[in-house]
This record gives sequence, structure tokens and C-alpha cells, in this order.
Amino acid sequence: MTENQLRDHIAALGKSLYDRGLAHGSAGNISVKLTDGWLMTPTNSCLGRLDPARISRLDSSGKIISGDKPSKETFLHISMYEERATAGAVVHLHSVHAVAVSCMDGLNAEDVFPPITAYAIMQVGKLALAPYYPPGDESLAQAVRKLAGKHHSVLLANHGPVVAGSSLDAAVNAIEELEQTAKLYLLLQGKPTRFLTPSQVADLNQRFAS
Ligand SMILES: [Zn+2]
Repeated sequence: MTENQLRDHIAALGKSLYDRGLAHGSAGNISVKLTDGWLMTPTNSCLGRLDPARISRLDSSGKIISGDKPSKETFLHISMYEERATAGAVVHLHSVHAVAVSCMDGLNAEDVFPPITAYAIMQVGKLALAPYYPPGDESLAQAVRKLAGKHHSVLLANHGPVVAGSSLDAAVNAIEELEQTAKLYLLLQGKPTRFLTPSQVADLNQRFAS
């Protein structure tokens, strides 16, 4: 895709996320890697109403070279790219079910969800939990950087999920699967549940290893 096609695609997927209630107000941000930098959704922009021409263009050091001022959560994205050479796009949302789970006590910080479905294992993988820090705090960037090498999906405590994918479509599909899994996890609370067994999980990881 050309840069202009990527800009249009960011706006189209942003609108799709917004229209389905996965993003609200100015919450959430999307970035895509280019050969010499990134496209990043602007600060205080609404994912449902992005103007492709105003999407921020960053150079390979993360400095803005054109467009509106980038999201103040840009550092979350850069931390993911720094640790994941294969990442082509990063999506961060404040989607309601994932945020609800991010506020729960006693989560396994290495692997937040029990093995509920095959697609959660294939697309979300082991979801890591990053401790709470205020938005924009440098400690949050460091916490994400520490986890991103091993996890393409990170849940920020009392905040929301950040997911890297090989392409924008892959990152959006994975974060949608994460939100769906969070919803299932909440629906199953207090109900006797038959989770996948460790051998079923190992089999999936072997069949669909990326
Ligand atoms: Zn956020």
C-alpha cells in the first residue's frame, strides 16, 4: 500500500471501530510503520472522524514531520515497535470489556486470560498486564517496553489494551479478538467453566506458530 492508501485505511478502520462502540470520544489510537517512520493518529482526534490528510507523520526517531500533533500515547506505540521488529501496526483502545478486566484484582500478569477459546490463543496469545501509571508517564513506556519483546498484546492496568500486528488488519483483528475474549471472560465469571486443557493449548501453539 502507498502512504496515502495507508492513511485512508487507518481512517476506514478507525471509523469501523468507532461505529461498533470499540472506541469513543477521543479515546484510542492507531499507528502504521512506514519504511522511514510512522503514521500516527493525532492527539484528541476521534477515531470515527479521522481526516486522512491530517494524520501525523513521524520520522524514524519519532519526531513529527507533518500533519497534526500526534497522540500523547505515541510512546506506547514506539515502545512496541522498538521491541518487535516484525510489527507493522499498533492499535490501542479503551474498549469497555478489556478495560473492565484491566481493573480486576488478582490477574495473572504474564497471561491474563484463562484459555477460553482457540482464537483467543491464536490471535491474542499470552496477554501481559502492565502496572498502572498515569497516561503519558515515561514509566508506562518503560513497563510496556519490558513486556513487548515477549508479548504482542499488553493490557495496561485500569486503562486498556495495546496490540501489535504484522499489518494494520492483523493488529485490528487481534485487538477485536482481545475485546471479545474480555467480554467472554466477564460473562463466565462465577460460572463453572471448561477451559481448554494445557495439551489443547500446546497443540494450538504448535499448529499455528507464527
Ligand atoms: Zn489510552
